[in-house]
Amino acid sequence: MADRDGQIWFDGQLVDWRDAKIHVLTHTLHYGCGAFEGVRAYQTDAGTAIFRLQEHTQRLFNSAKILRMQIPFTQDQVNEAQREVVRVNQLESCYLRPLTWIGSEKLGVSPRGNTIHLMVAAWAWGAYLGEEGMKKGIRVKTSSYSRHHVNITMTQAKAVSNYSNSILANMEALDDGYDEALLLDTSGFVSEGAGENVFLVKDGVIYTPDLSAGALNGITRNTVLHICEDLGIKLVQKRITRDECYISDEIFFTGTAAEVTPIRELDRVQIGAGERGPVTEKIQSAFFDIVHGRNPKYAHWLTPV
Ligand code: PMP
Repeated sequence: MADRDGQIWFDGQLVDWRDAKIHVLTHTLHYGCGAFEGVRAYQTDAGTAIFRLQEHTQRLFNSAKILRMQIPFTQDQVNEAQREVVRVNQLESCYLRPLTWIGSEKLGVSPRGNTIHLMVAAWAWGAYLGEEGMKKGIRVKTSSYSRHHVNITMTQAKAVSNYSNSILANMEALDDGYDEALLLDTSGFVSEGAGENVFLVKDGVIYTPDLSAGALNGITRNTVLHICEDLGIKLVQKRITRDECYISDEIFFTGTAAEVTPIRELDRVQIGAGERGPVTEKIQSAFFDIVHGRNPKYAHWLTPV
């Protein structure tokens, strides 16, 4: 990742990709207090556009607020930085990674006395869970690790430290031959994937866990709520049990990286017909129409670079 051409926006300056370095005594590297975003830019007929840029930047600032970090830039500057890195790296479609972290002036758990930094990188990144997975569905394992409790690491922050939980769950699933993990909350109710929100389809109704189960308030999740309303599909947010998943007709994951990914198997139990279901396909197709600028209703969600 580090050894490539390109430019990274680093504390207000564009720097060469290989020179975008920080010190080994960086506070965030030691104690995990930092926040980031995952954003995508897509090709549209009007050129490359960033999908829901303002909402992602707002969530980054919300994460920082939850973590008591003061980002030393305005949201407009961070929006502009994201447009700039797509432009200067001449990317037609890409993934963007804004990250804010605590500097290296001082160690010790208390971060006070340190500066706060921000960078934005962007690179081409295809289907996160594989092209084949997007068409045929992926295999998922219920994790032996629980999703963070809502009063532990703050589940509405896209906090760096939250991802040790996601990494453990993802590695366990991959080691056991699956594609991704599904995490339950500490009471045993379905929460979300290691980096995705989850939806079930049963008898034409879509269900997703309400956020009290500790899932991140996904921007793709919110996009799917709009799609369901447009398509006249009833959507219910509620507590969901693991066995409800087994007997559902379809399950899919959503996320900026994962987009809309069907799940064909959970814990070796076939879901529905064991392939991408018709409702998932409809939502996938509506999602790609929106991000590629083919649905004028959502033109305001696309920021040209
Ligand atoms: N949950 C977790 C833990 C995630 O990392 C992500 C990816 N950001 C999501 C859900 C989906 O959120 P979004 O649709 O905003 O990318």
